[in-house]
Amino acid sequence: MSRRLGAEVRVDHVVKAFEGGRVRALDDVSFSLAPGELVALTGPSGSGKSTLLNLIGALDDPDEGSITLDGERLDRIRDRDAYRSRTVGFVFQLHNLISTLTASENIQIPMFGHTHSRAARRERARNLLGEVGLADRVDARPATLSGGERQRVAIARALANEPRLILADEPTGALDSATGARVLALLDEVRQRRGTTILLVTNDDQVAAATDRVLRLRDGVIRGGEPQPAPA
Ligand code: ADP
Ligand code: MG
Repeated sequence: MSRRLGAEVRVDHVVKAFEGGRVRALDDVSFSLAPGELVALTGPSGSGKSTLLNLIGALDDPDEGSITLDGERLDRIRDRDAYRSRTVGFVFQLHNLISTLTASENIQIPMFGHTHSRAARRERARNLLGEVGLADRVDARPATLSGGERQRVAIARALANEPRLILADEPTGALDSATGARVLALLDEVRQRRGTTILLVTNDDQVAAATDRVLRLRDGVIRGGEPQPAPA
């Protein structure tokens, strides 16, 4: 198993407004993520969590402030598509799997343009499905998988290009709490095995409590960010 170091992320005085400035979704947000950290981002609906993930994923740019990954400013990266597909793995609340494709085929999609041989893509997809505990569901279509299994396929897909950072937006939000806990345990395993840095949006206190640190967003401002007390 190749082990790559996770990314270091710095968010520095970031402001992001919408509606001609009337909605300040993020209002001077600063924090950093150390390589290999698993950090929860919590906050009420509308507090700016998804906006923040979109900025770190270079899907959008801040109005003010800067975001760097391993010291490189995202707004100066020339090929942002390559940044998104090589460096970042995205996991969403709804798995966004393509229903007509098998688990293996869904995982291979992000590999096009990176892993050139078909045999290598299939082998890699098989290994990733094994890593998320679905070695026996390679050819299953999403409709035949449970919610937790679909989310595990989505995590395998996020790992397709060995990202240094995983951005997960409420990945357990559509799951019951036992299944959600298993998905979180899987992300924690990925982090431990691969050293991947993970920023996870959640509104589940139980999920948040299982991470290294919790960042609390409220009205576009970060509060908290203290390390979790060590488990007893
Ligand atoms: P959360 O993910 O915490 O629920 P969001 O980041 O989605 O919050 O939204 C933060 C605020 O920014 C909300 O008031 C939302 O309505 C607003 N917002 C987010 N994206 C847009 C957009 N593309 N256009 C206009 N307003 C937006
Ligand atoms: Mg959101």
